[in-house]
Amino acid sequence: MDRSEIGVIGLGIMGSAMAKNLARAWHDVRVWNRGPDRMQELRESGCKTAVSPRDMADRCPVALVMVTDPAAVDAVLEGPDGWFAGKCSGKLLINSSTVSVKYACGLAARCTARKVRFIDAPVAGSKAQAQAAQLIFLTGGEKAEIEAAKPFLLHMGKTVIYAGAAGNGSALKLCINLIIGQMTSCLAESVTLAKTLGLAPELVFETLHASPVLDCGYFRIKEKNLLAENYAPAFSMSNILKDVKFMLEEADARGQNLPVTAALKELLQRGCDSGLRGLDLSAMAKTLEGLKK
Ligand code: NAP
Repeated sequence: MDRSEIGVIGLGIMGSAMAKNLARAWHDVRVWNRGPDRMQELRESGCKTAVSPRDMADRCPVALVMVTDPAAVDAVLEGPDGWFAGKCSGKLLINSSTVSVKYACGLAARCTARKVRFIDAPVAGSKAQAQAAQLIFLTGGEKAEIEAAKPFLLHMGKTVIYAGAAGNGSALKLCINLIIGQMTSCLAESVTLAKTLGLAPELVFETLHASPVLDCGYFRIKEKNLLAENYAPAFSMSNILKDVKFMLEEADARGQNLPVTAALKELLQRGCDSGLRGLDLSAMAKTLEGLKK
């Protein structure tokens, strides 16, 4: 891919960090966000702005979308100001938002119908990895297209994994987030049990760190949230709940039960319903406090 203008649509926790890294490495980055306030910070980082996703399609040969969910992706692509309403034919659309496999496959077909090139490219890694350009892109689509996009993707990440056809990037992302969701619930329940048994929760982490097999970077990141009971979001309760619902729907559609993931969904739903949806997923621990008899 030549060094032509790149567009980033969606400047939340992940998109803003990704756009900043691109702006550091790439000569021309243009951004758009639904809420205009978030664009100011990116202007200060050297990005240009678009007035709409449609304007972005008119100006940039490549657009990367990083918004909440399928409804948000549709909102930026469809309608009179949507990306598809612009001069999108022949251009490259990269979706890094976490969506269902069904949605990713449907989006690939919508792109083909409009002669848009498409890469299904959700990411593994959270806020800290996005800031440090250490994301892992989990990609699906035409292999040659993904190879050509690698130099650009690697300004935001460290690895590009090729999973096969469009839809497989999203499938792999759901498999990885299943582990993230369950690891977080394991930590939250363990800390809750420790407190219930009269133990200092620090002892749980001291033991994990001392173990040659259980000491892991993810546990170390979430330790800070859990011990300080500080749930400022890196990855929100509502976004992991969205992903867990996709896991269950995709498995169910193929006749597979995932009982532990189903229990995780109940816990997350309870947390979101009790006002915690904007907090970090480690606020599962706060949800568990509400389950004390
Ligand atoms: P976030 O901070 O909540 O940001 C969400 C973004 O989506 C914002 O830019 C928001 O715009 C936009 N948006 C939501 N609804 C929209 C709509 N109807 N129309 C237009 N824009 C809309 O979320 P995030 O953590 O960056 O996550 C973004 C995506 O990456 C999600 O799919 C998430 O599951 C995935 N992901 C997150 C992480 C993580 O650790 N945070 C890691 C990997 C993947 P406004 O500013 O206007 O609200």
